[in-house]
Amino acid sequence: MLVAGSIGIDDVKTPAESRKGLLGGSASYAAVAASFFSPVRLVGVVGEDFPDKYRVMFREKGIDQEGLKTEKGKTFYWAGEYFQDLNQRRTLAVELNVFERFQPELPPAYQDTDYVLLGNLGPALQSRVVDQVKRPRFIMADTMDFYIGSARPDLMALLKRVDAVCMNDGEARQLTGENNLIKAGKMLLGHGPKFAVIKKGEHGSLLFSGDRFFSAPAYPLEEVFDPTGAGDTFAGALAGYLASVGRTDFDALRQAVIVGSAVASFNVEAFSLERLLTLKRVDIDARCRAFRDISRIDEA
Ligand code: AMP
Repeated sequence: MLVAGSIGIDDVKTPAESRKGLLGGSASYAAVAASFFSPVRLVGVVGEDFPDKYRVMFREKGIDQEGLKTEKGKTFYWAGEYFQDLNQRRTLAVELNVFERFQPELPPAYQDTDYVLLGNLGPALQSRVVDQVKRPRFIMADTMDFYIGSARPDLMALLKRVDAVCMNDGEARQLTGENNLIKAGKMLLGHGPKFAVIKKGEHGSLLFSGDRFFSAPAYPLEEVFDPTGAGDTFAGALAGYLASVGRTDFDALRQAVIVGSAVASFNVEAFSLERLLTLKRVDIDARCRAFRDISRIDEA
């Protein structure tokens, strides 16, 4: 599968701890999460200051970096602070740096990729990636408040070209103008994609397709250390799972949403991608089983 998106350096502050110089970016989280299920091709840009240790880590995860450009200048930088309620955060600083001039170009070998995840990136650039993939089987786009606010026409055009869209509850409300998430999910489908996924943080996620609907719980964690990248991890694992089973029907999507939720629940247990780097496939499988156990209701 192919993952395109931001690759950056983050400073993250939570009520308990502050950490600087962390690996961040939508594509970093999504690519590593997807790598548990499928070989990944990475499309993004970094500056000359991007630490080699992260390239080594991507390589160790089997992530192909032919599509990762290195440009003169500094890597994308983001700083954020979480409030006592870790569902709320504010952006303290964004420096686009080399990301500002990024024009995704797929190496020829990437152009026949079947499964494509468009992580957070301007929607016009996400469309540019779609232009370059020859016969994709499944394209999913993630988006965020920043792009809904600043590039709505491009985002609407993109939605007509993708199979699935994924965003969090606040973003679904912002995009549709509808407060009720069931109505908002159906409205997202009306803009083009066959599937819409709305993430609700610690309250799970909703999957919509036609008249069908699936509600997945979130894994009940007592301690969350850093929620950064949970959405990207969710999307990466979801798309990676679909690529691994080679199916894109509603039942496969239901399974994929559980897999995405399981991997995302690990990601928030430590800062940056630290937990993903110690995670094993057996841990993911065990947590997927736990998801089934906590949400199964037998007939009375
Ligand atoms: P999430 O917590 O899933 O919203 O993703 C957080 C990641 O998004 C961080 O690692 C940031 O580096 C990255 N990020 C923040 N702002 C943007 C932006 N405007 N475009 C792309 N990625 C961003």
